[in-house]
Amino acid sequence: MLSNTDIAELLAQQAERETGIPSRAFRRAARSAFVWSAEVANLIRQNRSLTELRSVGPFIEKQIRNWIEKPPHPAKTVPVVRQDFISTAEARRLLPARPAWREKLRGDLQMHTRWSDGSGTIAEMAEAAPGRSYQYIAITDHSKALKIAGGIDERALKRQGAEIAKLNAAMSKSGAHLSVLRSIEMNLNPRGEGDMSPDSLLGLDLVLGSFHSALRTTEDQTERYLAALRNPHIHILGHPRGRIYNFRIGLKADWPRIFAEAAQLDKAVEIDCYPDRQDLNVALLKIAREHGTRISLGTDAHHAWQLEFIDLGLAAALRAKIPTDRILNFMPVLELKAWAQSIRDRTTSRRCFASYFLS
Ligand SMILES: [Zn+2]
Repeated sequence: MLSNTDIAELLAQQAERETGIPSRAFRRAARSAFVWSAEVANLIRQNRSLTELRSVGPFIEKQIRNWIEKPPHPAKTVPVVRQDFISTAEARRLLPARPAWREKLRGDLQMHTRWSDGSGTIAEMAEAAPGRSYQYIAITDHSKALKIAGGIDERALKRQGAEIAKLNAAMSKSGAHLSVLRSIEMNLNPRGEGDMSPDSLLGLDLVLGSFHSALRTTEDQTERYLAALRNPHIHILGHPRGRIYNFRIGLKADWPRIFAEAAQLDKAVEIDCYPDRQDLNVALLKIAREHGTRISLGTDAHHAWQLEFIDLGLAAALRAKIPTDRILNFMPVLELKAWAQSIRDRTTSRRCFASYFLS
């Protein structure tokens, strides 16, 4: 039986044989296959139309039905740019084996709103969350240097903070158990430096740092990761590799060294759960596990419905056998805040120590 992951690969290969509009349609469907919530083979068995699936029109449906009826020979190896992605259907098969994981999940630590390039308001993201019995969500809009994503500056970040405080007060008054955490996805340059004034970050609960530039270089990038982790303002390294399904393989680095450094600094590396990121992937998560590195799960949702992408991250962590005490999102909100504070305290005490000897 062909799984959605097999179908994604067939669609991607078909896209390479076609040109123009059909090629783009196959490519888009390949990407979308990771979001389809049920296995196509099951939908066909239930006599359901495949056009209910994202990016599937009658033309693509016909092609998929042909493949299911007469499965083609398994293709040559899957190219690296499409390897090690979990489909939503697969994640939903894996997760019931460990029901405690979903129950333990307290929140989502990466999402975007209209303040940058997301489509929902902060309140809409918060409303979508309680269905998942979350205690918190972190709002991580882009920072100012990422102009293409409408990154926000210090002033906007402050106004956003006021909006979050107001929403938290209203939610607590209405008896809701959700806290919206103030955060940011700070853009890092290839030297690991952020683009926001350190003072503006002090009022935040958490700071994610991510690379969005020079992601196609083929040289080893270990130094940029070490610099990012040592950046005193960063708690979590977002979508570390920078890979995108069928588009970019991401950066090359000495991962054991990076995960060891993160563990040493008690910082977290992320599983960006966005279907065509899934970054870190299972192979790298296994290395992170060996080093005892903390893992953060963030959907990178740009729409409220995308909060469901969390299942892909949970499934990857489960598959890589990450111990539950290493997953930030399993921490109750106070514990999470205490961890974030401990990282800040450590950097301040180091600075005091340094200035003591320099004075
Ligand atoms: Zn990002």
